[in-house]
Amino acid sequence: MCGIVAYVGEREALPVIIKGLKRLEYRGYDSAGVALINGELQVFKKKGKVTDLETQLNEQELKSNIGMGHTRWATHGEPNDTNAHPHYSLDKKLAIIHNGIIENYASLKQELISKGHEFISETDSEVLVHFIEDIKANNNCTLVEAVRLALTKIIGAYAIVIMSQDDTNTLIAARKGSPLVIGLGKEEFFLASDATPIIEYTNEVVYLNDHEIAVIENNGLKIKNTEDTPMTPYIQTLDMELEAIEKGGYEHFMLKEIFEQPRSVLDCMRGRLSATDARLTLGGIREYAGALENAERLIIVACGTSWHAGLVAEYFFEEFCRLPVEVEYASEFRYRNPVIKEGDVVIAISQSGETADTLAAIELARSRGAIILGVCNVVGSSIARASHEGSYTHAGPEIGVASTKAFTAQLTVLFMIALRMAQRKGTITESKFREMLVEMENIPNKIEKALKLNDQIEYISDLFKDKSNFLYLGRGYNFPVALEGALKLKEISYIHAEGYPAAEMKHGPIALIDEEMPVVFIATRDSSYEKVVSNIQEVKARKGKVIAIVTEGDKLINQMAEFVIEIPATNEALMPLLSVIPLQLLSYHIAVMRDCNVDQPRNLAKSVTVE
Ligand code: GLU
Repeated sequence: MCGIVAYVGEREALPVIIKGLKRLEYRGYDSAGVALINGELQVFKKKGKVTDLETQLNEQELKSNIGMGHTRWATHGEPNDTNAHPHYSLDKKLAIIHNGIIENYASLKQELISKGHEFISETDSEVLVHFIEDIKANNNCTLVEAVRLALTKIIGAYAIVIMSQDDTNTLIAARKGSPLVIGLGKEEFFLASDATPIIEYTNEVVYLNDHEIAVIENNGLKIKNTEDTPMTPYIQTLDMELEAIEKGGYEHFMLKEIFEQPRSVLDCMRGRLSATDARLTLGGIREYAGALENAERLIIVACGTSWHAGLVAEYFFEEFCRLPVEVEYASEFRYRNPVIKEGDVVIAISQSGETADTLAAIELARSRGAIILGVCNVVGSSIARASHEGSYTHAGPEIGVASTKAFTAQLTVLFMIALRMAQRKGTITESKFREMLVEMENIPNKIEKALKLNDQIEYISDLFKDKSNFLYLGRGYNFPVALEGALKLKEISYIHAEGYPAAEMKHGPIALIDEEMPVVFIATRDSSYEKVVSNIQEVKARKGKVIAIVTEGDKLINQMAEFVIEIPATNEALMPLLSVIPLQLLSYHIAVMRDCNVDQPRNLAKSVTVE
C-alpha cells in the first residue's frame, strides 16, 4: 500500500505530482520520491513526509512535462532514503514506482545477481525494474514487451509505473491487485492510486483492471493485457467534488469526517429509505436479493473497523432475519479452507474496496459457489467489481486513516440490507419495520446532538490523556462498539486499549483493574442495561475509573461513574451509530493532546492493499 501519481502533458509535472502525493499520503507516508526527465532521467527521494521531499526539491530548478511520484509504506526494507521509490534499473535508464509486494523477488534477485546486477535497496520493487531491464536486453524487444514478459513471471501484487530515459513522453503502467486510475485530460494524462489527485484536472477516468498494461505515449492511451490482447479502455465520468477531499476548516481530516457523519449517514440513506412511504429499496441488490432471502447462512468477511461493522451486522441479521451469521477476519478465512456451500451468501465490507485480504477471501468464496455482496465506499473499487452485487456506503472520500464516517455508513447500509431482507422473508412485522425506518431516519439528527458533546469529551480527554491503558466494555449491540472504541484509541494515540464484552471481564481483564485503569462503559438503556450496571459496580469495587456512555436522562449510572456522557435514546439495534460518536471524539482529542499525528498514525496506512 502506498500512493502512486504520474503525469504527462503540457503542464509542469512536479507540482501536479507533489500535490497528488499529498492527497495520497493517507495510503503510506514513511518516505516519498519522484522521477522526472530533466535532460536525463532523474530520481529524488527522501525518508519522511511529502513536505520533506518538497522542501528539498524547492531548492532546485526542475522542469519536466513528465514525471511520477510515490509515497511509500514499507514492506521490504526499512523506511529510509535508499529504499524509497522510484528505483532505477542497473543502467539508470529506467525507473519504477511500485505499490504492492513481489513475492518471488528473492529468487529473481539471486538470478539477476548471478548475471552481474547490483542492488542498492532492500526492496522487492528494485528487483522488478532490473528484471524488466534484463528481459529487454535479452530479448532485444520494446520496453512495453519487456514489461509484459516480466509481469507474466511475477508472483504477487502490484501497481507500477515505469519511465524510460529513451522514451521521454511515455508512461507505462500495470496493475494486479493494487488499484490504478488513469485520468484523461486534454492532451494530458494522469495516473494515480485513487482518483483524488486527478479530479481537480479531469473527471474522465479509466480504472485499470488486473493483468492490464497501460501505455501512454504520443498523446494517446493504449491498454492491453499481459497475454498481449488489446483492450478497449472503459471511460467513466467521476462524480466527486474537490471540496470533499479538502479539510474544510477543520484541523484534521479525522475531525472533519467525525463531524460529517450526520450528512454521510443521510447520504447513505438517500433514495433508499423513506419512513413516510414505508419504503426501503437497495438498487445495488436486485438480482441476488432472492439468494440472500433464501440463504441458509450468511458469512461476513472484513478487516479492522469494517470487521466491527460486520459484528454489529451479525446482530442485525440474526435479530431481524433469523439468519445464522458468521463474521470472519478476511485474513483468517482465506487461509483456512472454510466450508462454503453453493448458495451461501458472503458480504464483504471494506471502505476502500481494495483491502487485499478481503478481496482474496471473496475470490475464494466465489470460486466455491458463494454469492458475493460488496459493501464498499469507493465506487468502482476492486471489491465492488469482484462482487456479484452490493451497496455503496456513499460516505464520500475518507482521508483520515482511522475510519469514522465509513463505519457509521457501513452500519447504515448493513442495517438497510438486513431490514429489507427481513421484510422479504416475513421475519419482521409491518409495524416493527415501520418503527425501525422512523428510528433510522432520526439517526442523523441524533448524531448531530451527540456531536455537541465535543467540549465535554475534550475536557474528559485532558484528564485521561496520560494513562497507559484503557478498557472498553459493552454488551449486545454495544460490544462491537467497545472493540471499535479501543481500536480507535490504539490507532491514533498509541495507548494500549482493549475492548471486551462486559460480562467477559470477569474471565480475565478484571485482574487489570486498579485506581489507574480507566474503563469506558457503553451502558445505554437496552436489554442488557441492568447487567452492565452490575459490571460497573464490579469495576468500582476495584477502584477503576469509569467513563460511561449512557442514554440521556440516566440517573443511576450518574451516581456510580466518574464521568457520564449522555447520548440520545434510540432503538438498541441502532445505538452503535450513536454510541460510537463519543468514542471517536475521545480518541481524537487524546491523540491531539499527546501530539500524535492523527490523520497519519505511525505504521498505519489507510487501505491495506498488501496481505
Ligand atoms: N514492496 C514495496 C516496498 O517495500 C512497495 C511498498 C508500497 O506499496 O509502498 O518498497
